[in-house]
Amino acid sequence: MEDSGGTRDSEQVGTVYLVGAGPGDPGLLTRRGAELLAIADVVVYDHLASSRLLDLARPGTRLVCAGKSVGHCTMSQPEIHRALIEHARAGRTVVRLKGGDPLIFGRGAEEAEALRSAGVPFEIVPGVTAGVGASATSGIPLTHREAASAVAFVTGHTNPEDSASTHRLDWSALGRFPGTLVVYMGVSHLGAICRTLIREGKPPETPAAVVESGTTPAQRTMVSTLADLPRVASESLVRPPALLIVGEVARMRAALCWYEDRLLFGQRIVVTRPSGESERSAALIEALGAEVILAPTVQIGPIEESAPLDAAIDQLSAFDWLVFTSSSGVRFFVKRLEERGRDLRALGHLRLAAIGPTTAEALAAYHLRADLVPDEFRSEALAESLAEKAAGARILLARADRGRTILRDELQHVAEVVQVAVYRNADVEALPPGVIDRIAEGTVDWITLTSSAIARRLHGLLPGPARERVGREVRLASLSPVTTATVHELGWEVAVEARRYDWSGLVDAIVERVDADRRNASEASL
Ligand code: SAH
Repeated sequence: MEDSGGTRDSEQVGTVYLVGAGPGDPGLLTRRGAELLAIADVVVYDHLASSRLLDLARPGTRLVCAGKSVGHCTMSQPEIHRALIEHARAGRTVVRLKGGDPLIFGRGAEEAEALRSAGVPFEIVPGVTAGVGASATSGIPLTHREAASAVAFVTGHTNPEDSASTHRLDWSALGRFPGTLVVYMGVSHLGAICRTLIREGKPPETPAAVVESGTTPAQRTMVSTLADLPRVASESLVRPPALLIVGEVARMRAALCWYEDRLLFGQRIVVTRPSGESERSAALIEALGAEVILAPTVQIGPIEESAPLDAAIDQLSAFDWLVFTSSSGVRFFVKRLEERGRDLRALGHLRLAAIGPTTAEALAAYHLRADLVPDEFRSEALAESLAEKAAGARILLARADRGRTILRDELQHVAEVVQVAVYRNADVEALPPGVIDRIAEGTVDWITLTSSAIARRLHGLLPGPARERVGREVRLASLSPVTTATVHELGWEVAVEARRYDWSGLVDAIVERVDADRRNASEASL
């Protein structure tokens, strides 16, 4: 057989998928992109606004940073081509993850050409290009029946006033272009670009906008005129990635702005809950526009010594009530039940109690309805209502291997109580280093504390300089008076405390404070 490239036949060559990652918001990746990330053996990625997309890869997937713009890892274009070809020839499925759309100013076409000449099969998966993403989130439509019937994507990579440049764009045509101009990579030449467009025929008063870090919690939008925008942008210290949008449509932002108006937009919030519990919590505040920084201080996992739990599971008929004090408790209990060869029918005769709505929801996920959820989501309230309803009954408390024992202590006066650990709750060894740096720099706004154990652990894990920022520039949001008392013992101030002791109560408390701050700021600026 003629063999030009290597010794393998084509069946063994992996496919390279050129996948658009979207403009920054990880939610804007296509479903096809997510599917491919989940099956990739290798992901070669550009510096992206969101590293969260890489979490979609399987554990063990080789992640190769190809750099581009910020970051230390930078591969040249030929090096990227070589890497893609080598991985594919080794039979691996390769995702080449590129910002925005792979074929819009992304050199995706060059990579595809290199793959084609090497005989490596490829597929191209589109992405939301930055211009389209930033249009949506800045409230600047790129077309409009009355204002723009055409749109041009333009690169501002080279300085239009630099006559020596070999990559010359026809700026005179762009000056006459009857529609919206979206200029990529133009921040460093913003002044020259705006001057050139005016020189080539655009009226100086043409509305124009810069959108920085579009579709992310760091988004900033500045609207002005073509003549004045460079001054506004430089005063605002605009940094890449940013886009310039020129045209009548920029005027419409005043009416269509929404993204930056969301309740927690721009708030940078550290979530210290254990992974497993933090994802849903994070999603709630992200939907309100916050940037979430995950920093689990404790980790949960199966208990090492399961004999007491197994004994309880084997004797469920000896109990009247089963009580859960966390959603993890529910999940680990059901898991162990199944591992013991049983199923939910084993709980048929039991009444179920949950400490709060989140725990009740964890039960509902298994189609189980909590018979009792106290009005106040804390151990004392649960103990009180159980003492009423379950006096004289046999109660199984399913909980973590550590924590407050108040529930058992209170209930054992009135009922027969067995407490078993269904999962392990252990301190993490360290926080992610990036989180400590951000706290020390003061580039986070909030840290959420959902238990005394978490508060203590966080205190122990933070080095001095970071610890000193906490409670001042970096504000603390506490779940309950119990947590607040611990925080005070640690010498920190609490900025807000939830009125309802669950996650949404905590989020409400932050939202109220942020809203009050915004009102004060806008009054002060009047
Ligand atoms: N292939 C990408 C563009 C790569 S060129 C795409 O389709 O979006 C890089 C340029 O894209 C940046 O210089 C900037 O002008 C723009 N850009 C990328 N992400 C952006 C973002 N989140 N907000 C604003 N502009 C962005």
